[in-house]
Amino acid sequence: MKSVLYERKAPVRTAEIICVGTELLLGDVINTNAAFLSRKLADMGISVYHQTVVGDHPGRLQHALEDAFSGNGGPACDLVILSGGLGPTYDDLTKETVAQYFGRSMYLHEESLTRIRAYFSRLNRPMTPNNEKQAMMPEGAVVFPNDFGTAPALAVGTADRTAVMLPGPPCELEPLFDTQIAPWLRQYTESILLSKNIYILGMGESEVEYRLKDLMMNAVNPTLAPYCGHGEVRLRVTAKAETLEKAGEMCDEMIETVAKTDCGSYIYGIDIGNVETALVRTLTKRALTISCAESCTGGMIGERITDVPGASAVFAGGMITYTNDIKIKLLGVDPHTIAQHTEVSLECAAEMAAGARRVLGTDLAISTTGYAGPGGGTERDPVGTVYVGIATQDGARAYRLSYSSGKTREFIRKAAASKAMMLLLEAIR
Ligand code: ATP
Ligand code: MG
Repeated sequence: MKSVLYERKAPVRTAEIICVGTELLLGDVINTNAAFLSRKLADMGISVYHQTVVGDHPGRLQHALEDAFSGNGGPACDLVILSGGLGPTYDDLTKETVAQYFGRSMYLHEESLTRIRAYFSRLNRPMTPNNEKQAMMPEGAVVFPNDFGTAPALAVGTADRTAVMLPGPPCELEPLFDTQIAPWLRQYTESILLSKNIYILGMGESEVEYRLKDLMMNAVNPTLAPYCGHGEVRLRVTAKAETLEKAGEMCDEMIETVAKTDCGSYIYGIDIGNVETALVRTLTKRALTISCAESCTGGMIGERITDVPGASAVFAGGMITYTNDIKIKLLGVDPHTIAQHTEVSLECAAEMAAGARRVLGTDLAISTTGYAGPGGGTERDPVGTVYVGIATQDGARAYRLSYSSGKTREFIRKAAASKAMMLLLEAIR
């Protein structure tokens, strides 16, 4: 018998994510569903308190559900989103376990069965009897048809406890969440979250934290949090409000406050994405062209600049000039410079940039040469030393970057590429 359709009576403020699958516990599959769902719920202003992974085991799933709805010893959550275990096989037990938790029996949902049959005939594949299991639903469940696979999503629960179940494959879960679950959940949410990112150039992460410590500690809504990549610092401002407009205003106020601190003059963009995007935008605005000659970064700068749509308006090309011979032949670096100062030096970096600018005929050029390790380096320039050359119409200059010896080759190369682009950005500002 089909009973009354499930309806929630309370707002949704907090959630837990339970991902079901032994393959997740074994490390065979990376839990991208949890990351996806957390991000989406955060955007909707729903606080995620826990992410849990359980194997395909009904007893342990039952416990995980009880823990989630009773609060794991902390505050209970309003919503549990489950991923996986909706398939046709014997080990797919999510629906049955959730139904049991809420004291619902299972019935055959005819509409789903028709859709599953149609799905198989569309693909010209035979439907085996176990696929009928995917059309079995807990009484009263709200069913969300799946246009991307066979297992429908569903929601069931009580007035203030909701379980939403989604199929495990990300190619089904993600569009199902976006097109069906998010709009359905939105009728129960009270506020939305909006984040804006402040990008900092030329000030280290610890200094940024030191200068903004009080502001970060006291910020409740909006919050202010630092994120550090390979040598880049980003501050994320997140506001919670009833409307997007209001949240935007709250973020802007916080950005203004940050701009008035000692960090203010180091801000190079808001929501700019990354330094290469900032660089391409600035160069486009100024109608300037650029080229590069890379040694230790091996083409990373060129790759990152060409990653930005519209880069062709400003980026002419680049050369990977790894050996001394090539630096001399292609860029016209003076062999005496290398003999006197070595190829990892201010002098060589400056000549490389000047050479790229001349050979490729651009307004600006950038170069890198350094020791990314783990081997190599000299007493003057140990592993982690990178020289960056910047050539403009006023001549070529070089800068010395120095990363600690504990950093990996990958870190040094990525950080040097970022920093080189930042230095160029600084040079044209
Ligand atoms: P199916 O009908 O495909 O069996 P299902 O809902 O039963 O769907 P699972 O059997 O749990 O889902 O998982 C199917 C596949 O989906 C897994 O083999 C894995 O590749 C992927 N998957 C499952 N859970 C996750 C997750 N949390 N993150 C990323 N991928 C996942
Ligand atoms: Mg399965």
